[in-house]
Amino acid sequence: MGLLALGTPLPWFESRAYNEHIRNEGIEQLLYIFQAAGKRDNDPLYWGDELEYMVVEFDDRDKNSMLDVCHDKILTELNVEDLPLCGANDVSFHPEYGRYMLEATPASPYMNYVGSYVEVNMQQRRAIAEYKLSEYARQDNKNKVHVGCRSVPLTLTVFPRMGCADFLNIKDPWNHKNAASRSLFLPDEVINRHVRFPNLTASIRTRRGEKVCMNVPMYKDTATPETDDSIYDRDWFLPEDKEAKLASKPGFIYMDSMGFGMGCSCLQITFQAPNINKARYLYDSLVNFAPIMLAFSAAAPTFKGWLADQDVRWNVISGAVDDRTPKERGVEPLLPKYNKNGFGGISKEAQDKVTKIPKSRYSSVDLFLGGSKFFNRTYNDTNVPVNNKVLNRLLENDKAPLDYDLAKHFAHLYIRDPVSTFEELLDQDSRTSSNHFENIQSTNWQTLRFKPPAQGAIPEEKDSPGWRVEFRPFEVQLLDFENAAYAVLMYLIVDSILTFSNDINAYVHMSEVWENMKTAHSRDAILNEKFHWKKLFRGENDVETESCSIDEIFHNTENGIFPQFVTPILCQKGFVAKDWRELKHSSQHKRLYYYLKLISDRASGVLPTTAKFFRNFVLQHPDYKHDSKISKLNNYDLLSMCDRLTHLDDSRGELTSFLGGEIAEYIKNNKPAIDSKV
Ligand code: ADP
Ligand code: MG
Ligand code: MG
Ligand code: MG
Ligand code: MG
Ligand code: MG
Repeated sequence: MGLLALGTPLPWFESRAYNEHIRNEGIEQLLYIFQAAGKRDNDPLYWGDELEYMVVEFDDRDKNSMLDVCHDKILTELNVEDLPLCGANDVSFHPEYGRYMLEATPASPYMNYVGSYVEVNMQQRRAIAEYKLSEYARQDNKNKVHVGCRSVPLTLTVFPRMGCADFLNIKDPWNHKNAASRSLFLPDEVINRHVRFPNLTASIRTRRGEKVCMNVPMYKDTATPETDDSIYDRDWFLPEDKEAKLASKPGFIYMDSMGFGMGCSCLQITFQAPNINKARYLYDSLVNFAPIMLAFSAAAPTFKGWLADQDVRWNVISGAVDDRTPKERGVEPLLPKYNKNGFGGISKEAQDKVTKIPKSRYSSVDLFLGGSKFFNRTYNDTNVPVNNKVLNRLLENDKAPLDYDLAKHFAHLYIRDPVSTFEELLDQDSRTSSNHFENIQSTNWQTLRFKPPAQGAIPEEKDSPGWRVEFRPFEVQLLDFENAAYAVLMYLIVDSILTFSNDINAYVHMSEVWENMKTAHSRDAILNEKFHWKKLFRGENDVETESCSIDEIFHNTENGIFPQFVTPILCQKGFVAKDWRELKHSSQHKRLYYYLKLISDRASGVLPTTAKFFRNFVLQHPDYKHDSKISKLNNYDLLSMCDRLTHLDDSRGELTSFLGGEIAEYIKNNKPAIDSKV
């Protein structure tokens, strides 16, 4: 996805009249897709990552670092006049929710193992963004705006002072109302200017009938206040301005709008499978890797200017787009006077059909897709509501009837309403457009996404993407080196799963995956928590799990990721004879050794997670007052360190303490080789 087309987004109270139309047509589109692409086979293992950046402005005189919402023309330019530059460097830039955000991917996917090209490509993305921003800084200086400031794209999972005083680089964001989010903390200027994004924000809030609400536990220090004292009285919006007192809880950081979640950054990786059955098998096999990789990549210990008593972003985003009404959540409305019977913005006609929905549309995977010899329907043991009309249509039709387990997956996605409807897109030719299907599909944000092709992807059409699986839990890491390491790790796991698909049975019970997802949020989960993990991956009908630490999950001989997934695929490729550590002495794959060493040392707790490193920085800062709060200066110094780490500046020894001496030395002295992309 490059630039978004313009159009007229319908506000919720108009768009809801088309919900059923969009669902009906979306399902017909899906059936045409299955009819066209169901028999594709032998597609290559194409894959690619997505990195999300926050553009941070450093004001070195005022010692403040802010989110930069003034230079978002960068996205247009990178997709218009700089498109040849991007193309020549094999990179592509995309819009994201935040006005200060960029997303970048390789322009064309990788195929199979590409060595350190992933990191090279990531460096090209960052270099182009940095070049553009430095050009803007020069122009600004000439025009006497943002004088003495510099903006840098950082791969930060969460901006520590999101929603605090002076967190944006505009003068007076509160001299007008923030109508889209109605947040007490985030001006609408955090939201991407494209009409889609403020409309989506307003639609979610309107459907829910209340502002979204996220309560994250505060990190408890000696002088931490009992309650979130950043909440204040305001009378701009009735009833929204009355909600905070009822929605917030003692001991928790209170957040009230979409930007707190969708304004976070992540690393996602998409893999193409040879055919639909292998794609289903791959998806199912990765389900329980998701919570593990979330905990493993922890990089979000701060929210809204507070240290949190958790290390990851996930439940914040989950809450940030939770459009369920009180009725659907099974709770009382905050202000019954304004939200009669808890139906939120649901139309009168749709109210009888309202049922309880256990989870937000942004959450962990709900269902295994099945379809392999290892699958047993009883593994889907959680309460997952489905849209029965959709289920029946998918099962019985003359286009391409689906089997029950696959039909159930889509029928679950289709319990949701569209929340982003454009007037111009209401009427489509469902034989050729998949826009209605994607409307619902792409606003179900789970830890994995099963990505079907388009109707044009008939078996002979190899240039059109096939059946893909997207791995979405990773928190983004600061360095390209780290992000490349995590992406390559997932590539190796995926290649291993597909190569040894006759033997690898990764199924566990879905209820255990849901529990793992909760556990993954704990502070220092990597050191202190135990997760449900498969006892043996090579057993026909076995779903037995045991309780394992992250260290055990990566290193155990019988069921660890290194011995059971990484080493076997490296042996199969002929990179090593017995153990991944042999890579250290390889001339060709030495960098891969350091990727894997970083992962191994983080998993065993030898090296800190990003979350732990940041938390310690905040706690040890001279300006820290033991109140769990992150001052402007603390934030400025933390992000300045992030900038140094990103650029491998070890002048203060920070890179060495973050990555350990051996890895730091290696990456300071060795640039990734520009291997060819094959
Ligand atoms: P989305 O935002 O919908 O997840 P993006 O286009 O931002 O999609 O990212 C998709 C990723 O998938 C990119 O890294 C891209 O290089 C990669 N990709 C593109 N085509 C294929 C393919 N056929 N198989 C696997 N991955 C692909
Ligand atoms: Mg994307
Ligand atoms: Mg994105
Ligand atoms: Mg996207
Ligand atoms: Mg995002
Ligand atoms: Mg994606």
